Amino acid sequence: METSMIHSEHKVRDVHGSLTMPIYQTSTFSFSSAAEGARRFAGEEEGYIYSRLGNPTVKALEERIAVLEGGERGLAFASGMAGVSAVLIAMTKANDHILCSNGLYGCTYGLLQMLEEKYDITHDFSFMESEEELRNKINKNTSCIFIETPINPTMKVVDLSMVAQVAKEYGIPVVVDNTFCTPYLQRPLEKGCDIVIHSATKYIGGHGDVIAGLVVGKGEFMNALAMAEQKDIGGVLSPFDAWLLLRGIKTLHIRMDRHSSNAAEIARKLKEHPRVENVYYPGMENHEQKSIVKKQMKTGGGVIAFELKGSKSEAQNFMDRLELIQIAVSLGDAETLIQHPATMTHAVVPEEKRKEMGIGDSLIRLSVGLEAVEDIWHDMNQALQS
Ligand SMILES: *Cc1c(COP(=O)(O)O)cnc(C)c1O
Repeated sequence: METSMIHSEHKVRDVHGSLTMPIYQTSTFSFSSAAEGARRFAGEEEGYIYSRLGNPTVKALEERIAVLEGGERGLAFASGMAGVSAVLIAMTKANDHILCSNGLYGCTYGLLQMLEEKYDITHDFSFMESEEELRNKINKNTSCIFIETPINPTMKVVDLSMVAQVAKEYGIPVVVDNTFCTPYLQRPLEKGCDIVIHSATKYIGGHGDVIAGLVVGKGEFMNALAMAEQKDIGGVLSPFDAWLLLRGIKTLHIRMDRHSSNAAEIARKLKEHPRVENVYYPGMENHEQKSIVKKQMKTGGGVIAFELKGSKSEAQNFMDRLELIQIAVSLGDAETLIQHPATMTHAVVPEEKRKEMGIGDSLIRLSVGLEAVEDIWHDMNQALQS
């Protein structure tokens, strides 16, 4: 895995023998003759045509993520949401039904509302805690199951192999948003799931400087996705952003180890703190779904959710007293980031639905960065004390 993060794609040997993948910052590619152009359009000859249809720098990234997730083909998108929307549009038609984990990224929730309003594509939420619960929620018109695990922001987990096995009986594809884990911590395709999506904006990029999405799956589905939803809706990634991701992935394993060990330590300290009510972290010994965590995740990852004793104003006052830790949505950056889901990332979810998902007004989400763990804790502790 570690070696594949650095070497997995087909390397282009350019005229200068450059070690890293050059940035092919070009919108189009010229043909040596009209006949060559015609052959490329007809698919009779390999070669680039136009950067929305394919670009060498972007292709190198797509090959690398496909190897890391153990899938047949990867595709890069202009954002995580461009990837999520392309996949959901590809998987559904009017009047279909999508079954989702009970808790989703806020904009994915927004997209589901839009699909329902425009195309009568309905959806349901489920914690998917047992086979029975899952079977009860599958309808005749369910055309895909969409899962986040750990669920953002409550950090509950969903048993991927259980869901994949049940879905297979019904012939329903399972899509997993693997943003929180990256392939280094969790590989959903190995558990029998069909499609993996990443907001590569987060850990894969890892440096807070790019918005990007990645999708990996079987050849047939991915080829169709490339030729329709990616090409014709057009949310493609730029060559420069692809290059930033190739660069980020080279250190993904080292960063994930450090994010995880820092987060495990912060979670332990929060748990012991008298001002803290609850801590939700998959890497904790007393996580309520520890056996599932053990089965599918290498470590607990870098994100912690917790509740202070008190209400929304205590949560907001605590955040305002932090000095090192930045108040910002996003996660997976070198900097430790903190946000308040009920008023930020999940503000679009109606209050009643938020409560069902376990997103209370005092819930805080922390993306633990790569700083010295003593400094992260020092900042949290002084804000808790004051
Ligand atoms: C950020 C995020 C997304 C959306 O990705 P963008 O790159 O911001 O479009 C989707 N899913 C999860 C779990 C995320 O954290």
